[in-house]
Amino acid sequence: MTSAVPPPGVSDAPGSGVMIALRDVVRHFRRPDGGIYPALGPISLDVATGEFVAVVGPSGCGKSTLLHMVAGLHPPTSGSVLLGGAPVYGVSRTVGFLFQDDALLPWRTVAENIGLGLRLRKVSPAETHRRTGEWLARVGLEQFADHYPAQLSGGMRKRTSIAQALISDPSVILMDEPFAHLDAQTRYLMQMDLLDLCAGGGRTILFVTHDLDEAIGLADRVVVLSAGPNSRICADERVGIARPRDLLTLRGHPRFGELSALLWRILYEQVRGSYAR
Ligand code: ADP
Ligand code: MG
Repeated sequence: MTSAVPPPGVSDAPGSGVMIALRDVVRHFRRPDGGIYPALGPISLDVATGEFVAVVGPSGCGKSTLLHMVAGLHPPTSGSVLLGGAPVYGVSRTVGFLFQDDALLPWRTVAENIGLGLRLRKVSPAETHRRTGEWLARVGLEQFADHYPAQLSGGMRKRTSIAQALISDPSVILMDEPFAHLDAQTRYLMQMDLLDLCAGGGRTILFVTHDLDEAIGLADRVVVLSAGPNSRICADERVGIARPRDLLTLRGHPRFGELSALLWRILYEQVRGSYAR
């Protein structure tokens, strides 16, 4: 009997509810010539509460499109996107974002940027000050509280963005290739920071990356999207490596090697397919 095995995308995580649910989601775009490009779907995906799911796939397959629909930045062409069981209509306050390019305000200091979300939510100045101080310490930027973004390294700006995203204590965090522009060493440090700050905190994380090692290293589950058009989920694998994880030694873990080989093969086929088109 194969009925006990859920189809790709549908979570089998035990004991927890579904936080993010995509049901037969399709997204079309209008081409400049007026035609329709069927970028994505139909896709069904469940992310359990507290689960860390990484989405990988060839460039242009629709990873950002998928994340934007969960974020409520644009609606699906058909199908539904649910957050905590409720349909997504617009941007939710319970969701935190971390994108490839940081969205720091250049004319605000590090501390002001980190506290921005709380001020917009009308949290009192004293409480904003207290929590900003806490997050400055957590991301190791106390000495740089009064610096402006242009005075920081790429890694420091990324840490400021992480603090800015997490200070509001979002129950869902959406990340779109957040470390793509960092050099390899800084990226490694940021990945370790992210594991410390996010994983195991009961937060639900949907993390988009083109880096398979990053996906396996950080996530509980790795979902692979096929090359577009009509991109679908073509693999959905549980990582199954215990936390806390040490990213330095993780590559030597037998499961890492096994999963990496399996998913590389699938991803390679998709990348080759997308180049052929
Ligand atoms: P990825 O993040 O995986 O690289 P995207 O989600 O950015 O891919 O894009 C998926 C596909 O949809 C691409 O072919 C892209 O050109 C197309 N696309 C994305 N956004 C738009 C848009 N606003 N208008 C037209 N086409 C778009
Ligand atoms: Mg993208």
